[in-house]
Amino acid sequence: MAESIIHDKCGVFGILGASKAAELTYFGLYSLQHRGQESAGIVTSHKGKLNLFKGMGEVSDVFADKSVFGKLKGKIAVGHTRYSTTGASSITNIQPLLVTNRNEMLAVAHNGNLTNSVDLKRKLEEKGSIFQTTSDTEIALHLAARSKSDSVMGKICDAVKKLKGAFCYLFLSHDRIIAVRDPWGFRPLALGKLNGHYVVASETCAFDIIGARYIRDVEPGEVLEISEQGLKSEFPFAKTKHAFCIFEYIYFSRPDSIIFGENVDKVRRRLGRALAMEHPVEADIVIGIPDSANTAALGYSEESGIRFEIGLIRNHYVGRSFIDPDQSIRDLDVKVKFNPVRGVIEGKRVVLVDDSIVRGTTSKKLVQMVRQAGAKEIHFRVSSPPIIAPCYFGIDMPTKQEFIANKKTIAEIRKYLKVESLGYLSVEAMLKMPSLPDDDFCVGCFTEKYPIKIGQTSSKLRLG
Ligand code: AMP
Repeated sequence: MAESIIHDKCGVFGILGASKAAELTYFGLYSLQHRGQESAGIVTSHKGKLNLFKGMGEVSDVFADKSVFGKLKGKIAVGHTRYSTTGASSITNIQPLLVTNRNEMLAVAHNGNLTNSVDLKRKLEEKGSIFQTTSDTEIALHLAARSKSDSVMGKICDAVKKLKGAFCYLFLSHDRIIAVRDPWGFRPLALGKLNGHYVVASETCAFDIIGARYIRDVEPGEVLEISEQGLKSEFPFAKTKHAFCIFEYIYFSRPDSIIFGENVDKVRRRLGRALAMEHPVEADIVIGIPDSANTAALGYSEESGIRFEIGLIRNHYVGRSFIDPDQSIRDLDVKVKFNPVRGVIEGKRVVLVDDSIVRGTTSKKLVQMVRQAGAKEIHFRVSSPPIIAPCYFGIDMPTKQEFIANKKTIAEIRKYLKVESLGYLSVEAMLKMPSLPDDDFCVGCFTEKYPIKIGQTSSKLRLG
């Protein structure tokens, strides 16, 4: 039977001690918008009570009416941007989630997804838990409520020890934030400071917008309590190998963030350089598919000496909901998003760089577009290896059967895309680009070898 637990790919932000904490969180979430556009929410603590506001849509839509900040009083706040794959039906799943247990209020925001959620949920339900949402995030709250510990920190440590998979949590009680990062460290989580106040966020670009300073990452396996008394850390998990998500460097994180100890921009540029070394070609210009592949395209250009050009313009005002039941209208989607610059492309031999090919639909349409704009030759280059397996750790990916690399050989994909040549970066070269050792990374989507055993999980596999 189809299991309906929903997993989210998300951004989280928290701040303690600052006046206008909710407004600062709003700006932080703005910077994390790329990590989730479906819904957003902020919870604050004021005079012992937690106040929550959340809704469907992008951050600017949800908080369009600024009078809501009047209700989000307090100097402690946690916020969340979310993207799951189940659409509008999941209003109850919007985060942060807020519960009251034995007169204590507790809120949580989560980035990642659990691989033992089905099993945990079944066991909790057998013991009488009644779930209000279909999100795996709620499981941690139920586990915390069942803990015998008398401190919030103790309850949370007891709860998260039972979890497997990818999880970065920000819990908010009336007077503290507790940040948790799973022992594998799949997703990034950074600690910063703003005028003496601690800030925590999925990516450091959320610090830049409010003028906060990056201090360090929340460590894999760390449960970090942030209160007026300062920081307190516990490491309640058994030690395990790291499994940082390489796809954060390839596509997901913003190039202006520092994650896993390194600038995303630097790593992404090196990926482009390595791609040029592995798949050189004679051409006139290099074009990146904006925005995510621009940095890798720059790297390709630097290494190959072929001029980088802005040959595709992205319209940034396209919502995610441009879905029309009519196929002829649906085919316009790529045109709504991208337009070629004919003057740049016409008569040129073009190296077209993208960060990844998933189903192959975007690349096929873009190639047609670039050809119609007068390209003489198109050499498609991908700054990651072929994607062959779903992600169970927080990146939204389709089912295994939908990946083009599982349906066609590279030679067949080249023919399908109708390009003169096609080159993907190898797994070996990709793993050499970050400064950390190769085996610190999860590369499951490229190898189907996962760092942890996958339990029973959503049959949809379009996890988030
Ligand atoms: P496709 O058209 O299915 O081959 O998708 C490839 C495009 O989607 C590339 O331009 C990527 O930058 C982008 N992409 C890769 N992974 C994801 C993801 N998990 N969610 C949304 N877009 C993605």
